[in-house]
Amino acid sequence: MRFDLITIFPQFFVGPLGHGIVRRARENGLVEIHVQDLREFTKDRHRTVDDRPFGGGEGMVLKPAPLFEAVESLMGHSAGDPLKPDETDAKTAIVLMSAAGKLFRQETARRYAQLQRIIFICGRYEGVDERVAEHLATDEISIGDFVLSGGELPAMMIVDAVTRLLPGALGNEASSQNESFSGIVHSECESRGRAGSTSHRPAPILPGPQVANHGLLDFPHYTRPTEYRGWAVPEILVGGNHAEVAKWRRAAALEKTRRNRPDLLTRE
Ligand code: SAH
Repeated sequence: MRFDLITIFPQFFVGPLGHGIVRRARENGLVEIHVQDLREFTKDRHRTVDDRPFGGGEGMVLKPAPLFEAVESLMGHSAGDPLKPDETDAKTAIVLMSAAGKLFRQETARRYAQLQRIIFICGRYEGVDERVAEHLATDEISIGDFVLSGGELPAMMIVDAVTRLLPGALGNEASSQNESFSGIVHSECESRGRAGSTSHRPAPILPGPQVANHGLLDFPHYTRPTEYRGWAVPEILVGGNHAEVAKWRRAAALEKTRRNRPDLLTRE
């Protein structure tokens, strides 16, 4: 899978792309990530990417031309108008990061994980000339009901959420199938400890039982010690009875969902 990140701050991604699962996925060739400096697609001496808004008002707006040209250059298409999904590769999304976009959810991440390529457009200032949303982007996506100062963090969040869903990205396949928002899935929930570990641990953490996550939040996790500052791990979890553990986890996930995200229980 390939990700392209179009930005005026290419250095922004150095840290986030260089750690953890995303870093490993790059090293293993599971994902290829290209950061594209938008200013390479300017033609004036000052490398101008923004201009004042028509109609007046605050701030500056990213101009359409550098963005269209950046995307077209990345895709190797000459200027088709409009450059829309069925004219481009059906396996490619051009995603405009926007506080006014459609909400990104785990199901969006799952859909994106089926694609071959995602090109992200990171806005700045007051935003992006609307013709980019209308005629260039295939998707206009928000990562939540709040306003950030740029699209780089939102795009990086999507790169992370999608990468960890790609087969082989996580050490343990079950982890992405049996977590918050993962939907109806039955799978083995392995311990995260390395097999054959020689450390002197008191009791092994057993491979977990079958747990169905029906779009609830994840169940609470505990690890050693069994008691910390007087707070004990729920007894059922240390008992080794898989059926009881599964029952407890389902109930705890439901309780946590009710407490933190009651909206998930009422959603159609
Ligand atoms: N005037 C805009 C906000 C611009 S913020 C509005 O009121 O909607 C500048 C840029 O940050 C945006 O163009 C977008 O790329 C990014 N951004 C800010 N909040 C975002 C969010 N919640 N999700 C995705 N991108 C966001």
